Amino acid sequence: MDIYLEDAEPPDRPGPPGHHDWMWELARHYELMRKAYPEDVLCVVFDIDGTILDLRHQVVHVLVSYDREHGTNHFRGLTAEDITVSENHVSKLLEARALPQAARNDILAFYRERLWRPEAILAASRPYRGVLSVIRWFQLQPRTVVALNTGRPERLRDVTLESLNTVGRAYRVYFDPDLLCMNPEAVPTAVPEGKVRALHLLRHKGLRPVAVVDNEPANIEAMAASDDGGEILFLHAETIFESQRVDTPRTVRGSRYELAGLVRPDDLGDRVTFIWHGVNDRANLRQFLASDVHRAELDVREDPLGRLVLRHDSFEETPWTRTEEPLLLVDALRAISDAGRAATLDLKEGGPVVARILDEVRSSGPTGADVGFLGGLDVLGQPDVEAIKRTFPEAPVTVVADPLIMLLARNEDLLDTILQRLARWGVTGLALDWAAPATRRALDPLAERGWDVNLYGIPDLEGFLEAALLQPAAVTADFNFPDLHYYGRGAGQRHRFHRYTLAGSSPP
Ligand SMILES: [Mg+2]
Repeated sequence: MDIYLEDAEPPDRPGPPGHHDWMWELARHYELMRKAYPEDVLCVVFDIDGTILDLRHQVVHVLVSYDREHGTNHFRGLTAEDITVSENHVSKLLEARALPQAARNDILAFYRERLWRPEAILAASRPYRGVLSVIRWFQLQPRTVVALNTGRPERLRDVTLESLNTVGRAYRVYFDPDLLCMNPEAVPTAVPEGKVRALHLLRHKGLRPVAVVDNEPANIEAMAASDDGGEILFLHAETIFESQRVDTPRTVRGSRYELAGLVRPDDLGDRVTFIWHGVNDRANLRQFLASDVHRAELDVREDPLGRLVLRHDSFEETPWTRTEEPLLLVDALRAISDAGRAATLDLKEGGPVVARILDEVRSSGPTGADVGFLGGLDVLGQPDVEAIKRTFPEAPVTVVADPLIMLLARNEDLLDTILQRLARWGVTGLALDWAAPATRRALDPLAERGWDVNLYGIPDLEGFLEAALLQPAAVTADFNFPDLHYYGRGAGQRHRFHRYTLAGSSPP
């Protein structure tokens, strides 16, 4: 039966122009298979080494351990970028480094003995950028599973699961032990045959494999030859591979796991609140109102004339000018309220000004949960939060929690004490900087405590999709995504320093 739907109507997948890459092909194929088999459990199969994990890090780890244990200095400064051969061809790398023959032999013996030891796997498993978000997307789809099909032997089962689930945690990815196919210890097979056998096993479990990602052409060749139904899309991950590239049917190639071809914001908006960042001027307000995004964030300050205006930078950071025509809070609120939309007010100043802000919201709208408040703990004190909640009991009140979540590492009790107190004031959510390394690790612990998290500081479309896939309560972004016809203009920040950014934080 020829089930590959060559003639089928392509599904409605506009996708951004220029993104008809392998991930776009994968999404399109998955949709076709979903339509063809609405009730089946579809299975997307990933190889591990060279496909999910960038083994160069493991190679570096082992070579540097040689130096550490032998007091030698052969690999000082070695990084993953220096590894240009597959993990099985490290002798070539040693030849290129002009080491004496005796040293080379010794290093090679050490390397072979150590590369697949559990400690090397646990210490140096690093995923390729984007791949775990791609896996997360499939794991979120109904009646869809992700299986692993690896040439690693069965004896590495536990350490393989442990290391993959450790790196997966930051992406909310979990690998099911029942869906990990390995090379059997008792009757070891050549890797390509093992991969074919694993596909049969998955079908035997009642799953329908629809796509396979692997970095070795020889594996793809074997699996494609055995795919009688012709309904599997093969994705060749062009990382580092050993076997000759061969032409195989139904195969697409790519080297970067980019989400833009795969994930559409519409797929995620039901479960995550999108917030249009920095609606502080008329042009950005217009773009926001013309979009399908429900909620805008507004930066509220008092200007030197005592008016409540929308402005990102403080008047100290960026002095006002004679030509500056600020958007008044009251005007923005009225426009947003008239359009039936929602606003989150980012309070840049607390104290007496809060009462005036509440008055303006009361007279202009929005109301209920369509008005929300956000601020740093340097701005929002207990009286401010309580005043907000007295006036707008349904309003979400979010505090910037980057300085707090560092307590998760060593002072969890102290964090809990603070969070419980914030909850008593009426705080309902925590805002976290997407760029801070601690943020991803904090999502699960905060979700377990029942806190809504708002991720802010998203730099671009990839970051936005990646953040939304983690399904926090809200994601705040500039919505400057022209490919998707969003033309957000940003908060109008002129001063380099952002109040919420912690010193020393760097992109994940
Ligand atoms: Mg591989």
